[in-house]
Amino acid sequence: MSKKLFIKTWGCQMNVYDSARMADVLAPLGYRPVDEPDGADMVILNTCHIREKASEKVFSELGRLRQLKDVKAEVGDGRMILAVAGCVAQAEGEEIVARAPFVDMVFGPQTYHTLPEMVAKASRKAGSVLNTDFPVESKFDFLPDESASQGVSAFLAVQEGCDKFCTFCVVPYTRGAEFSRPGAQIVAEARRLVAGGTREINLLGQNVNAWHGEGPDGTTWGLGRLVRELADIDGLERIRYTTSHPRDMEDDLIRAHAEVPQLMPYLHLPVQAGSDRVLAAMNRKHTADDYRRIVDRLRAAKPDLALSGDFIVGFPGESDADFAATLRLVTDVGYAQAYSFKYSARPGTPAALEHGQLPEDVKDARLAALQQLLNAQQQAFNQSFVGRTVPVLFDRVGKRAGQLLGKSPYLQSVHADANERLLGRIVEVRVDAAHPNSLAGSVATGEYRSSATGTQPVEATV
Ligand code: SAM
Ligand code: SF4
Repeated sequence: MSKKLFIKTWGCQMNVYDSARMADVLAPLGYRPVDEPDGADMVILNTCHIREKASEKVFSELGRLRQLKDVKAEVGDGRMILAVAGCVAQAEGEEIVARAPFVDMVFGPQTYHTLPEMVAKASRKAGSVLNTDFPVESKFDFLPDESASQGVSAFLAVQEGCDKFCTFCVVPYTRGAEFSRPGAQIVAEARRLVAGGTREINLLGQNVNAWHGEGPDGTTWGLGRLVRELADIDGLERIRYTTSHPRDMEDDLIRAHAEVPQLMPYLHLPVQAGSDRVLAAMNRKHTADDYRRIVDRLRAAKPDLALSGDFIVGFPGESDADFAATLRLVTDVGYAQAYSFKYSARPGTPAALEHGQLPEDVKDARLAALQQLLNAQQQAFNQSFVGRTVPVLFDRVGKRAGQLLGKSPYLQSVHADANERLLGRIVEVRVDAAHPNSLAGSVATGEYRSSATGTQPVEATV
């Protein structure tokens, strides 16, 4: 009999990917995803520990879920298995077990392939099953094939963990050491996705461009080589990768941006700060000028490359002059889109112990100034598309009837009135208006289907 599974996901795309794979692992046990936790047979909170208030959010969510669990038992509808997964579980597993003993399973990002055993244990005994090990075996060797197509645009995890130890970041502690999946395993998974209807693959990793894997030919490949191999898969029209570290931006990967048409002209390349003093204190292992030079090389290879980044303001000891250097870097580089955060002291990380923690109001003011600049750049970037025609991969229906949503090569969201038959296809769209976070357009007359090998007319289906 089918059992109801509700997963709530916080945080990065890797967490979104992990949640989908948890559903794959649980499918043979009869669990099917549902959209609401009420009455569910299993609820998993897949958590993120990157910024503060993460655990408070989890505990308040658990308070609500406890009531649903009690109601389900009271009405004789069986037991709700309640689980906390992800990076908060990894970092604070024992505290969760102590503070919320009604939670049945607590497990980190590296052990969810053992969910069937954990479920069996949790069903047999009272109390929580805690599994926050870093097993020697890779979970990827044990995960089943994806049970269902992820759709037109799919995530494919190629790399996990981090050895870089930026002084502000919990990832090396919650996700563990850097690990690359073997090339053949990735290519096989990509082929399966494409056979299931995927047209765009987003290669995922905490440091995706640190990926190094053994290719089927026995040699060691870097990410540039992997991208070239994936580009040979018939039917795979778009390739993206995220998140990259500037230190790992190898020449071959930069060349791939010039040479592989399926590799989209968009790159998320976090720099965090523009001051060399702050970058050194962050243990980033690159200077602001190193980053500028990498951007210059990328733009020489791919002039229309749209850049995205991550920024932290208010790192301990950051002065007005340091912050001004961040604004200068943003002005020099010019971002199509970016994420910016106030520094948040994470327990167990070196920066959390540093003197010179900044007051909240200083962080607030700097964040507002940075976001004003980044938003203006994003708005100008989007505005520059008005009147142009861009190929859009329609991957979902819009909120309004008759509307489809998709992505431009530069990862802008584009909506247009279009026939549902265009879902899953790349269609030329004329941009009519630019909004801060999206573009509005209309399917170009005499619709064209674009592909890596050029554009070919197809039947008009609007
Ligand atoms: N590996 C990527 C890199 O090197 O840039 C980023 C991974 S991290 C999951 C995503 C982003 O969260 C970081 O780029 C950083 O901007 C932000 N972040 C991480 N720790 C933070 C902290 N303690 N306070 C504020 N932002 C943080
Ligand atoms: Fe965190 Fe730095 Fe590793 Fe990125 S490179 S995951 S910011 S430690």
